[in-house]
Amino acid sequence: MIAVKRAGTGLGLFALQDIQAGQRIIEYTGPLISNEEAEERKFGKYFFRVNTKWVIDGSPRANTARYTNHSCRPNAEAFISGYRVWIWSKKRIKAREEISLDYGEEYFDDHIKPRGCKCAGCFVRPKPGAQFIKTEKERPPIKEVLFLSDDKQGSVRVLLL
Ligand SMILES: [Zn+2]
Repeated sequence: MIAVKRAGTGLGLFALQDIQAGQRIIEYTGPLISNEEAEERKFGKYFFRVNTKWVIDGSPRANTARYTNHSCRPNAEAFISGYRVWIWSKKRIKAREEISLDYGEEYFDDHIKPRGCKCAGCFVRPKPGAQFIKTEKERPPIKEVLFLSDDKQGSVRVLLL
């Protein structure tokens, strides 16, 4: 139901069919590493912080969700559920549309701002303080419908090292 394809800026994650708003799309997987370890590693591009102590290193290729590109006007958002992270549709995503996330202030300032944002239709940055990560409590009720054929469900999970 989703596929990795060539996007405007490298590879991206695309919907193969319409996805309704509020659907769980894919899990962001990878080994769980400590904050300290995350700070020591150089290739932190795919790090996803789950709480003050732990970070998911999403760099393994089995983590299909890592191909989700940044957009300042995203159509999906990430929710942390314990030590796991899921990407949910924020609005209706049409077939062939790219799935995007707002990577957040820190990532934007470190990795995107220096080169300028190339996201589709990027004109303005959302107001400072805009959050894309929500806690479990803020997560909308699960409306589980979508099953991903190309999601490596059950193979790579968050591993405690
Ligand atoms: Zn942008």
